Amino acid sequence: MKKAFTFLMLAIPLILAAQRDWDAIEIKTNPINDRISYLEGSGGNIGVLHGPEGIMIVDDQYAQLSEKIRIALSELSGSDLRFILNTHYHGDHTGGNENLSKDGATIVAHENVRKRLGTTFYSDLWERDIEAKPESFWPIVTFKSELTFYLNGEEIQIIHIPEAHTDGDILIHFKSSNILHTGDAFVRYGYPFIDVAAGGTMDGFIKAQEKILEVADADTKIIPGHGQISSIADVKELKQMLEETRKIVFEMKVARKSLNDCISAKPLADYHERWNGSFITSDLFVRIIYESIKIGVVKGKK
Ligand SMILES: [Zn+2]
Repeated sequence: MKKAFTFLMLAIPLILAAQRDWDAIEIKTNPINDRISYLEGSGGNIGVLHGPEGIMIVDDQYAQLSEKIRIALSELSGSDLRFILNTHYHGDHTGGNENLSKDGATIVAHENVRKRLGTTFYSDLWERDIEAKPESFWPIVTFKSELTFYLNGEEIQIIHIPEAHTDGDILIHFKSSNILHTGDAFVRYGYPFIDVAAGGTMDGFIKAQEKILEVADADTKIIPGHGQISSIADVKELKQMLEETRKIVFEMKVARKSLNDCISAKPLADYHERWNGSFITSDLFVRIIYESIKIGVVKGKK
């Protein structure tokens, strides 16, 4: 029973990915100001800073789209691509690393992104190995907590957020323009995915929202990992849902309910309409919370 249940939950997005028609995907450029845009295609939103000193991109979607991404970048600027930042290791954000760094762009990411891309590890949730990528995909500059770039008149602050969506997430704050790329530590597609096998946790994800609200103000334009431009009001809404659903599942876990009993009880029924998605369903989100929270410790403490 458990096997059939997990298969049904997980098979749909995998089948959809396998059937993707790459030729039909267009890269759409969305300018935010005269030097920062974001690109949509398939996979994570690509942040672009462009100007006479060169191009910096945040994430690079899938390898199959690299040529189209290259063309979209050339339409924004005649300058070379100099830096590729990865918000985390997932393939829909790092798939273009090899292709787009071939001409000399430097891949920069948190040190755990290099470890994840370089190591094969097992995911309980996907019930399969997450395969290591060849070295040509790995960041060649890594850091532990913070990093600052100065490019095209823009000060860019990069901040690591621990144990959120994965163990290597970063926020990229284009401070001069007040634009924040959050990677998948904040998303618009419904319940967020928390990659527990790769060090993500529910409590870390909630803390990520707190960090975003510390860095951002009412005027900040937020580029989420997926979905349209957002504001701190959207982050507050997500944070509230996360805190409430965590409490619900935490109390069930403290009452020694099994994971299957928790899922069967449909504890997130009130959240289903607003947050249920084709990728992360209410049932799957219960499992993610259940498996990533520890009982017997105070929230936020280890
Ligand atoms: Zn991701």
